[in-house]
Amino acid sequence: MASRRPKLAVWKFSSCDGCQLSLLACEDELLAIADAVEIAYFLEASRAEVAGPYDISLVEGSITTPQEAERIRRVRAQSRMLITIGACATTGGIQALKNLRPLDDLVRAVYAHPEYIDSLATSTPVLDHVRVDFELHGCPINKYQLLEVLSATLNGRRPNVPTYSQCIECKLSGTVCVMVSQGKACLGPVTQAGCGNLCPTCDRGCFGCFGPVETANTQALSARLKALGMDQRELQHYYRLFTNNAPAFREASETHD
Ligand code: SF4
Ligand code: SF4
Repeated sequence: MASRRPKLAVWKFSSCDGCQLSLLACEDELLAIADAVEIAYFLEASRAEVAGPYDISLVEGSITTPQEAERIRRVRAQSRMLITIGACATTGGIQALKNLRPLDDLVRAVYAHPEYIDSLATSTPVLDHVRVDFELHGCPINKYQLLEVLSATLNGRRPNVPTYSQCIECKLSGTVCVMVSQGKACLGPVTQAGCGNLCPTCDRGCFGCFGPVETANTQALSARLKALGMDQRELQHYYRLFTNNAPAFREASETHD
């Protein structure tokens, strides 16, 4: 009897689509992926839909509306493995900056007709709403890490994704430290590796888009950034970028309020 291919679904919540595009950007590997799984629901790639349940669900985006809070529970109920992909789904994304101000003030400032807006007061990661089997970080995610996560999941093993900081990536690739050699600000010491060291190899500091590393020493980094000339307000803003709602960065920014 022919064995059934596992069903893959890709879901979008509040996000820019960049992480879903990382899957489509796997041009050389896409045929192998389509061989290994049945792409059952992926509206960015096809209007065809195969009904659940699904073996693997990739979830992009944060939860920002009452409808999304309801829908993510339905997605969870239909998914054997639920993997969140990207800064929005794993931390709340750049849109979590709205968590810092009263919703009404923001809606009135942005929309000509605020009465049509139905939004939650916060943008939150998927993990705040349902059980998540694995979180893949990045803004956007690294396609090679995505392939590793899919391969590991299909083979029943834990994904081999590094948990060390960007600084280790600089050392491994022989990139000269932009903070030490040029006095440029860099969040690398407190940021999760995984992007392939993109910014320091382009001669600029890291902005933390892969989110905080597990044991982020933001206190030590803040002292170093102050010594480089950053004032309190700049420091506060520096931690409030793509992954501003990740606890380590949120707490670090609050200490410079
Ligand atoms: S450039 Fe940034 S990430 Fe690289 S070693 Fe220096 S501080 Fe760390
Ligand atoms: S170096 Fe930092 S900001 Fe640049 S892509 Fe990597 S994680 Fe993102």
